[in-house]
Amino acid sequence: NADIAMYHAKAQGRNNCQFFTPEMNERAVQRLLIEGGLRRALGNQEFRLHYQPQINLASGAVTGAEALLRWRTPDHGLVSPTQFVPIAEECGLIVPIGQWVLREACRQIRAWQDRGLCVVPVAVNISVVELRRPGFAESVARILYETGVPPHLLELELTETRLMQDAESSMSVLRSLKSIGVKLVMDDFGTGYSSLSYLRRFPFDVLKIDQSFIHDLDSEDGDAGIVGAIIGMATHLRQKVVAEGVETEQQLALLRIRQCDAVQGHLVGRPMEADGFAGLLAGGMPAR
Ligand code: C2E
Ligand code: MG
Ligand code: MG
Ligand code: MG
Repeated sequence: NADIAMYHAKAQGRNNCQFFTPEMNERAVQRLLIEGGLRRALGNQEFRLHYQPQINLASGAVTGAEALLRWRTPDHGLVSPTQFVPIAEECGLIVPIGQWVLREACRQIRAWQDRGLCVVPVAVNISVVELRRPGFAESVARILYETGVPPHLLELELTETRLMQDAESSMSVLRSLKSIGVKLVMDDFGTGYSSLSYLRRFPFDVLKIDQSFIHDLDSEDGDAGIVGAIIGMATHLRQKVVAEGVETEQQLALLRIRQCDAVQGHLVGRPMEADGFAGLLAGGMPAR
């Protein structure tokens, strides 16, 4: 029947149209561009690490740093890690990139030590894709050994959501990493679904409260009680607590009252080049 055939053709046509929307096509093209760019980025030395200070709330001293990956492309300038890290994870390039990040952070720690600076622990973000590769813990041990960095100066940050998707299989790798002597940080805490029993069993040394909770502290219905409860729980588990994304004096004051250990955010220091961070270390006491 002609009508039915016509109907099918239209329906199919519509489906095809929906599948190849211009918007999607653009996204697919952007994806391919990023993937292609990433394949050349390591060889072209387009990556840098920036370092964002963490400030101890009681003493005001710089007690740590987070290394954040920066990618400057020849054609499109800076591309945010929130854009390229997920693509690097999907195509597997996060593995060599992650190894570069670890080695570069350790090389930098060593260079600061060689200049006689009093170096604080540096936290490196690790993707679960890297964590689940056989031999990951061994590669961390090798990089520490080759760069001559004491393990306690390296922290590895893992985001809660991704880790909990396959909690059991991560456990043995985390234990191996702990046995090397590096510290483990649970990043973006509060955005995932960790059960209390996992939190107790996982060997995390530091818990980072997700920025969304910190930003909420300034809003009408902001809940300082939740942040206080997270801090209380972490303290009970003998974990250090870091608040990330601290931008206002009000947030800082509330975190101080709740006895948060350390803060990280634009209010106390933006991510900066290695030399800028060396200046902070050399200066001893920061602004606050
Ligand atoms: P993250 O690990 O949660 O890092 C914190 C992010 O918050 C960073 O964004 C940092 O620049 C930003 N930030 C710091 N202070 C403030 C503040 O006061 N306000 C606001 N609004 N933001 C602040 P960035 O550098 O764009 O990195 C985004 C994410 O990309 C990171 O989130 C991390 O998940 C990932 N990432 C960054 N570097 C690496 C890396 O070397 N390897 C891997 N696997 N992931 C990385
Ligand atoms: Mg992080
Ligand atoms: Mg985070
Ligand atoms: Mg994050």
